[in-house]
Amino acid sequence: MPTPLLFASFAPKTLEPNLSIGNKFIRLLEKLDLASTVSGRRVAIKMHLGGGGGFSTIHPFFVRKLVRAVKDAGAAEVFVTDLYRDTVDAIDRGYTEEVFGCPIVPVCNEKDDNFRTFPVEPPFLTMDRIELGTPILEADVLLDFSHVKGHGVCGFGGASKNLSMGTVTDKMRQILHSLEGGLVWDEEKCIHCNACVENCPNHAMKFEDGKLDVFYHNCKFCQHCALICPVKAVHMTAGGYLDFQRGMAMTSAKLLENFPGDRKLFINMLMDTTIFCDCWSMTTPRLIPDIGILAGRDIVAIEQATLDLIDSAPLIPGALPANWDLDPDESKHLFERIHHKDPYAVVKYLAELGCGSREYVLNEVE
Ligand code: SF4
Ligand code: SF4
Repeated sequence: MPTPLLFASFAPKTLEPNLSIGNKFIRLLEKLDLASTVSGRRVAIKMHLGGGGGFSTIHPFFVRKLVRAVKDAGAAEVFVTDLYRDTVDAIDRGYTEEVFGCPIVPVCNEKDDNFRTFPVEPPFLTMDRIELGTPILEADVLLDFSHVKGHGVCGFGGASKNLSMGTVTDKMRQILHSLEGGLVWDEEKCIHCNACVENCPNHAMKFEDGKLDVFYHNCKFCQHCALICPVKAVHMTAGGYLDFQRGMAMTSAKLLENFPGDRKLFINMLMDTTIFCDCWSMTTPRLIPDIGILAGRDIVAIEQATLDLIDSAPLIPGALPANWDLDPDESKHLFERIHHKDPYAVVKYLAELGCGSREYVLNEVE
């Protein structure tokens, strides 16, 4: 039987305040029957708070309304959580405890040492463990509140990426990214513009005697250098993005084991859908018109529906940088045409791991 999902369309049928997305979101929360999930329980809301000059993360309006609804539904405690580094300048996006109405708790704290380790047996390639932040594991209910956008490494970021890359230690993110392979520099192609060095968020690159040197201790395999290079002189080896997707799915699945039955909820915000992840510290033009909001209790169904809705939306002219290598094959998903990686892979792996169903039915919230 298809999994039911709630869907609030951004587009109002008529221009009335009551039919706008903010008011639809409130009605969507009412329909979720939050009380049966959160009453008397400790609730962790996992968000990506973004960073730097970016501002296309989830608008504080929605966070505040969600926290209010969770409290009104009888939660014993509620907090918003994200990586420590993204909590530091969260105020720049209007994210404060006063605005939210609840504490903001770092996933693994400043020293990145507040986590629990789960062995992966047998290891998956080089991934021999999963390190998950303790605060989220100590919650009774997980509310995965995700801004959906493109992603250079895995095609897109939604509910699964919010968990697998955003509830773990820095070391764990490095383990996941390293599933993709290593960096290769093509000296013949390089024009020594230094863009890769200047745009590495982890100061992992430098030129030494004219040769590009990668300090892998710092490298998080984020591929910013490969994507920013104007002549494609840097790339990852092995093309192992499918291994990365599988590693992400395994990490999400391990976290979700902690929240059996009704103790988890997923809300995907399909608006301000930009080309790259919010960790890029920038906001770029929207790729597609704002779609709306999906909510449900099945991570597989919500990710599948998210990708299907995005694929049916038109690419906004001028949304991509000039000369972007857009695959002309319109039968492929929009994110695959942009990032050359099948975004459905993680959905397939999550389904194989027993996290949910790819069959869904949308129930529209008017
Ligand atoms: S992959 Fe990311 S962290 Fe590693 S060198 Fe390139 S930009 Fe820096
Ligand atoms: S961005 Fe590309 S062309 Fe520029 S220095 Fe780095 S590798 Fe060379």
